[in-house]
Amino acid sequence: MAWYIDSNRVKKSAKPDLSHWTVTHSPGSVVPDSGIYVCLICGKEVTCNKSDSFPPQNHHQHYESKPPIRWKLLVKAVTD
Ligand SMILES: [Zn+2]
Repeated sequence: MAWYIDSNRVKKSAKPDLSHWTVTHSPGSVVPDSGIYVCLICGKEVTCNKSDSFPPQNHHQHYESKPPIRWKLLVKAVTD
């Protein structure tokens, strides 16, 4: 779970239905927005920069019975 200390500099989105909050991403695909992403299966978090690649499938492993890694945006960085 991501932590923060300054609530004046982190804001909850008023538009949680926007695609950049709802779309999930495969390992190795292109990062659409800079920020913190969470694996929906196990909760592991990574920081990723826009236009880089998400970590590869071997970044971490799930037990055999669990689905593969799926990254979802948790905290979007404002870099523009
Ligand atoms: Zn995972």
